Amino acid sequence: MTPSTETPVGSSAGTGGSAGTGSSAGTSSGRAEIGVIGGSGFYEFLTDSERIRITTPFGDPSDDVVIGDLEGRRVAFLTRHGQDHRFPPHRVNYRANLWALRSVGVRQVLAPCAVGSLKPDDGPGTVVVPDQVVDRTWGRDHTVYDGIGAVVHVGFSDPYCPRGREVVINAGRAAGQKVVDAGTLVVINGPRFSSRAESLWHQQAGWTVVGMTAMPEASIARELAMCFTTIALVTDLDAGVEGGESVTHEEVFKVFARSLNTLKTVLQSAIVDMPAGEDDASATCACRRALDGLILPFALPT
Ligand SMILES: [Zn+2]
Repeated sequence: MTPSTETPVGSSAGTGGSAGTGSSAGTSSGRAEIGVIGGSGFYEFLTDSERIRITTPFGDPSDDVVIGDLEGRRVAFLTRHGQDHRFPPHRVNYRANLWALRSVGVRQVLAPCAVGSLKPDDGPGTVVVPDQVVDRTWGRDHTVYDGIGAVVHVGFSDPYCPRGREVVINAGRAAGQKVVDAGTLVVINGPRFSSRAESLWHQQAGWTVVGMTAMPEASIARELAMCFTTIALVTDLDAGVEGGESVTHEEVFKVFARSLNTLKTVLQSAIVDMPAGEDDASATCACRRALDGLILPFALPT
């Protein structure tokens, strides 16, 4: 691995509205087309990988970005919770993480995460590729357009990339995995799990799975006109679901570790099958058009 260091740009996270033009990857070797936000176990299948330290106008991302090759695709990995899982879900710097990936060229993001199931039939090991999200988080820095001045409203009616979702669903099925190809992911603030009443409420609303990290990750990706696909791995039945016991931290980590290899297989083939790294102008999905016609208060990293 060849470490390299980015020149810090911009200001601290507290002054997001005055964000500068952002960082660039520096050398072409430090560029990638597909980003993965997940655990550190995921990037061991990359070849010729290098670690790149990036600073953003919103502060430091959770960790260095690791860039490497997978069957000809250039992939950038970022551990969501940082080294040693040091950042709890409500302390992850989602803005810096997405900005950092975009600054090395990433426009397609795959985001594996652990979730609890709100449906008794979709137990541990099920992969859910949600097409909707409900944000019940609070107190997180949830937008890059945080300054006083130009107001930027982005569309979020369909939060996830249709092309990325299709690729992941196909990859999951090809791997022999049980895949739920739609559904609503409700994101709670954590780090505590839901009460039984909250869980029942989520279930009665018709939602599918519950997690702690998918927002504002997905909406910030949209604010940066990046394609974003969540790959939600069920680790437990949530507390209010028939047969669901009180969820424990230990149980979640145990099931996640057990399912890691399957998830890696799905992820690997999804990466290989992802749409080619076309430029912004020729991309066909709406995610990449999210900022068309808007006046931005600062230039996005390219
Ligand atoms: Zn897209």
